Amino acid sequence: MQDFTLFPYQPGDVITMRKPHPCGSKQWRVDKAGAEITIVCCLCGHRHQMKRRDLEKATRAVKHSTEETKGQIT
Ligand SMILES: [Zn+2]
Repeated sequence: MQDFTLFPYQPGDVITMRKPHPCGSKQWRVDKAGAEITIVCCLCGHRHQMKRRDLEKATRAVKHSTEETKGQIT
């Protein structure tokens, strides 16, 4: 068993971070979820890739999107 199951990130999910991005947004959208997660800032569009573990530490909440993610299983 892995201990990475705290937040099951999926593409399209919106993450609320503990700390805001310099642009002022705390919300990021998951673009790719693998060993590393690519997230896109919801406000300025900045892309950032980070390890799942690091992202979990920085995450306050994850909101699952049911619209864009249907049929996309990673
Ligand atoms: Zn930003």
